[in-house]
Amino acid sequence: MGSDAKDLVKHTKLFIDGRFVDAVSGCKTFPTFNPSNSECIAQVAEGDAADVDLAVRAAREAFDHGPWPRLGAAERGRILYKFADVIEEHLDELATLETLNNGMLIDLSKADNCGGVAFFFSGWADKLNGKTLRTDSTRMCYTLLEPIGVVGAIVPWNFPAHMFLNKVGSALTCGNTIVVKVAEQTPLTGLLLASLSQEAGIPAGVLNVIPGYGPTAGAAISKHMSVDKVTFTGSTEVGRMIMESAARSNLKPVTLELGGKSPFIICEDADLDSAVAVSQNAIFMHQGQVCVAASRVFVHESIHDEFIKRSVKLASERVIGDPFQSGVQNGPQINQEQLDKVLSYIESGKKEGASLLVGGKRIGEKGFYIQPTIFGDVKQSMKIANEEIFGPVLSVLKFKTLDEAVELANSTHYGLAAAVFSKNIDTVNLLTRSIKSGVVYVNCYLRAGPAVPFGGYKMSGIGRENGYEGLLPYLQHKSILMPIENSPWN
Ligand code: NAD
Repeated sequence: MGSDAKDLVKHTKLFIDGRFVDAVSGCKTFPTFNPSNSECIAQVAEGDAADVDLAVRAAREAFDHGPWPRLGAAERGRILYKFADVIEEHLDELATLETLNNGMLIDLSKADNCGGVAFFFSGWADKLNGKTLRTDSTRMCYTLLEPIGVVGAIVPWNFPAHMFLNKVGSALTCGNTIVVKVAEQTPLTGLLLASLSQEAGIPAGVLNVIPGYGPTAGAAISKHMSVDKVTFTGSTEVGRMIMESAARSNLKPVTLELGGKSPFIICEDADLDSAVAVSQNAIFMHQGQVCVAASRVFVHESIHDEFIKRSVKLASERVIGDPFQSGVQNGPQINQEQLDKVLSYIESGKKEGASLLVGGKRIGEKGFYIQPTIFGDVKQSMKIANEEIFGPVLSVLKFKTLDEAVELANSTHYGLAAAVFSKNIDTVNLLTRSIKSGVVYVNCYLRAGPAVPFGGYKMSGIGRENGYEGLLPYLQHKSILMPIENSPWN
């Protein structure tokens, strides 16, 4: 399947106002690659500020004068359900394209994109209502939830279709229109999804997709005066730039889903078999290219050595290879740049005195494969324990007391996710409440699902996505007050 997959690439142009078009520049394109063999898959039209402007104008027109925000909410929900159905009908095609362009294991691509369909909280479309409020006895107030307008979305490469669907689903459910800049590394599934939106009957201009680079196309979205809100998922460094640019332009609100350095705490009384198995997946799934990757494990000193022994064995047995092949557990990193970055963190861990217990090397020369890597004797002050590596590298640290575990867990600038493994309810309550992160898993990890509010404390982000809470930032809240002349309560 892998070699035929190139034939799946049907769309490589920008999608603006319901049509696939060349970039304004006419000829500018960029190559997109297959991370499992480093080969170029296709040349994709490169969107720039001028293309973003056209897309924003189309989205503005569709919002200000088109049917989408004016549709009955249930009808809008019906069209979004249809979009979800069309995506499911094309699931194999979508997942294959995702694996081809991203290196994600094919089973994960299928599960992820199928799950992504649920981001069409279509059922919410007609249930986002305001309130009736008491003011004083002579006046009444009711609130309206109105769409915010034109949303600009900037998405990363690690879960390209999932991130795309998350943002498009939320924005469109609330009646907004949207311009999405897909990541330069993985533009293909977003373009396929744009073509599927037409099949579902989403009107022209409601969804626009721009492939292109961050400092050009991405920056043009965050500073555009006619974009009413920006939603961004990516690194903390770029999130900061986006917020600055949003503030300097029209003070548009931002939702930022940023990086993490998630702690995984294993207490003395934990089920060790389960903790070892779950922590492997928590760091090595998708080659560690997951924002909630549990890259720091804190193990109670009494079970530390046993944890290390079992984890090293499992890591050394992981099957690494072609992400299209069944049985493979780790595929490639996304590109040479990420591979080099991960290898340089491994070098820094060695230099700073951590013990390399397993892995640490690139595999082969074609594709961007790296061995699952575990470091022991890690100190929280080391770079590998503080910075987001975004690769299959685990740092293991020991703790004695729960206070120490909490202090270590909270000692980075991040606060996205965490795990607590313990059978003691008091320990669980203490740790879940003391850890500063947006999500805390107890005796499990990953698979939160679209109904669960998701987002970060500290420098892991601003705002929440998913669930009811994740829809609110896509709405304006309007309060309407009026006198009541003849109320029986006056
Ligand atoms: P990145 O920040 O480099 O890029 C993300 C997107 O921003 C890309 O589309 C890129 O082109 C664009 N961009 C880059 N510079 C820009 C600029 N100056 N202005 C506007 N846009 C710009 O991140 P990445 O390497 O693609 O993704 C990995 C990062 O994403 C990791 O830090 C990871 O933790 C984070 N992430 C977070 C979540 C979450 O939900 N919190 C989910 C997935 C990934």
